Amino acid sequence: MALVVQKYGGSSLGDARSVKRVAKRIAEAKRAGNDVVVVVSAMGDTTDELLDLAQQITPLPPKRELDILLTAGERISMSLLAMAINNLGVRAKSYTGQQAGLITDAVHGRARIVDVVPHRIRETLNKGQVAIVAGFQGVTKKTNDVTTLGRGGSDTTAVALAAGLDADVCEIYTDVDGVFTADPRIVPNARKIEWASYEEMLELAASGAKVLALRSVEYARRYNVPMHVRSSFSAHEGTRVSSKEMKPQKLKESTMEAAIISGVAHDRSESKITVVDVPDVPGSASRIFEVVARTGANIDMIVQNVSGASTGLTDISFTLPGSDGPAVMAALTAVQTELGFHSLQFDDQIGKLSLVGAGMKSHPGVSARLFAALRDAGINIEMISTSEIRISVVTRADSLDDAVRAVHTAFGLDGTDGEAVVYAGTGL
Ligand code: ADP
Ligand code: ASP
Ligand code: MG
Repeated sequence: MALVVQKYGGSSLGDARSVKRVAKRIAEAKRAGNDVVVVVSAMGDTTDELLDLAQQITPLPPKRELDILLTAGERISMSLLAMAINNLGVRAKSYTGQQAGLITDAVHGRARIVDVVPHRIRETLNKGQVAIVAGFQGVTKKTNDVTTLGRGGSDTTAVALAAGLDADVCEIYTDVDGVFTADPRIVPNARKIEWASYEEMLELAASGAKVLALRSVEYARRYNVPMHVRSSFSAHEGTRVSSKEMKPQKLKESTMEAAIISGVAHDRSESKITVVDVPDVPGSASRIFEVVARTGANIDMIVQNVSGASTGLTDISFTLPGSDGPAVMAALTAVQTELGFHSLQFDDQIGKLSLVGAGMKSHPGVSARLFAALRDAGINIEMISTSEIRISVVTRADSLDDAVRAVHTAFGLDGTDGEAVVYAGTGL
């Protein structure tokens, strides 16, 4: 008998009908002889709607209260799903993150899981019942308050429970058939990736492929949890994510060497700040980024222009999550006189494209091909950064989709067997 953790995202739980559809799938898995633990996200856009409600009350809600509010979304799904499963004659019980033993640190809004003590889940399984757990939430021992894990955090709950329960697999059910070589919403002829290593999936997730939350992949790699990303709307085999050692044998045999490129990811959530006319002397960058670091913002790319020889002044640009923009602009404005720069520019109309592939490190010429593809599509590159297995470029936001399609084609990633299906909203 296998122990399976299944996670259903908000896109699979849009309304009561979808909840019943998902309940059927779970009942089938249980009847097939598996022990089943289910993690759920909030239905449809519930989390966004709750955030919007809070904004209507106050622009800066206390983080503790916001967390309590947001956890309500997942609690609605878990109880409805448990009802639907019980209706099908299979016993199921729902638990909040706290009841399921998900212990986190005390950082409201983006708490990290520090321990998993799933006694009640084990008890439920031992009684032959299905356990449903509210994703994206836990409790901090420090204050006994409820916390949330950051957007997309239900993926992380699922992996953490799979690790804590030593499950055979963590299945992530969503509205597409797996992880594709690009977002199927932008590249309809993207190809499904059969298998990805943790490292490749980490780069894709970190570069914006939101089909898996970055932290869930980090967690899976640390605890060696095999993941299977697949659609809740079809029975197709999805994408397996695991360590290289666990790569399925048939794939090991069919591919003599790893593909050079695994995919093209895009990210629209970042903004760019430019510090104009900074004195080009030792210590300037250090002071700027000390001030930025104090806001807690995570900087992504940094570019410093060559200074004009006559002026001794330079420009420094960096990208960061758009939501951190206002706080960082305020912090830098406060030290403008001290640092002696001329002005600040804020640009939220940027997009980032990343080409990811483990084979890249041993294949020269990948950057040249990427830049040529963008040139041919008439797209200007504003910033560039590279790692061993990734190249990222910043473009104008409105040319990002064209850029993704051009690069996808240039690297021969376009599929030949029809369009990738995005099931959400199809009412299936
Ligand atoms: P869920 O509600 O199931 O958590 P998400 O919306 O978080 O679903 O993630 C699924 C979406 O991720 C897909 O609908 C797709 O648009 C997007 N996506 C982005 N990049 C990729 C990719 N490389 N492969 C598959 N889906 C992707
Ligand atoms: N409901 C949360 C969100 O929208 C968590 C999740 O869906 O994984 O971010
Ligand atoms: Mg998600």
